[in-house]
Amino acid sequence: MNWKQIDRNTRVQHNGVYTVWKQQISNECFNQCVYCSIHENPWGGIDHYHIDHFRPQSKFNALKNTITNLYHTCPICNKFKSDDWQNEPNDLEIICYPDPSDHNYSNLFTIDTTNYTLEGRYVSSRYLINRLYLNRPQLVYERREHFLNLKANALIEESKKLLELTVDIDLVRTASKIKDNLVQLLIARKNIVPYKLLDIKKPKKKKA
Ligand SMILES: [Zn+2]
Repeated sequence: MNWKQIDRNTRVQHNGVYTVWKQQISNECFNQCVYCSIHENPWGGIDHYHIDHFRPQSKFNALKNTITNLYHTCPICNKFKSDDWQNEPNDLEIICYPDPSDHNYSNLFTIDTTNYTLEGRYVSSRYLINRLYLNRPQLVYERREHFLNLKANALIEESKKLLELTVDIDLVRTASKIKDNLVQLLIARKNIVPYKLLDIKKPKKKKA
């Protein structure tokens, strides 16, 4: 949706233990989950987010406090990723986690705008979608909101242009009021946080 590549060169390595670097890691990752791109704000803020060891601590203990191995993630992606590590991410066409500092994740996926689901463009991105369940209901909801807001804003812009061409003052007043109400409605809807616990459970695979 709105993934951003993390700039490895501007990350700051401190001495000490990673657990106290949460704010810095959040800032360096644009305050959003590097895997699903959801911003921390609608999730209750930084407290609810986790520090992800890209190369898992259980398998790469030496990288435990290496800043370029640490990313900001939502708790759900972090839980699904856990200590999974398949292959070094040298090729997008193998099962692996592409490094968010090597790739802009926006380029790994396409979004089906009829149902707002993600499709992977590579073996690695299809693996990500499956393993981190990137088509979970609340992410589909967020994508739908994002696209509907874009469409609504485009309609507002279109109506503004039409209003400039209209000479009937009563019509201008009425149409302006409708437009302003729509803008207010969009602003109000931004504050709705609809997550339910049930929405974050991954359905169990049915046995064949
Ligand atoms: Zn996430």
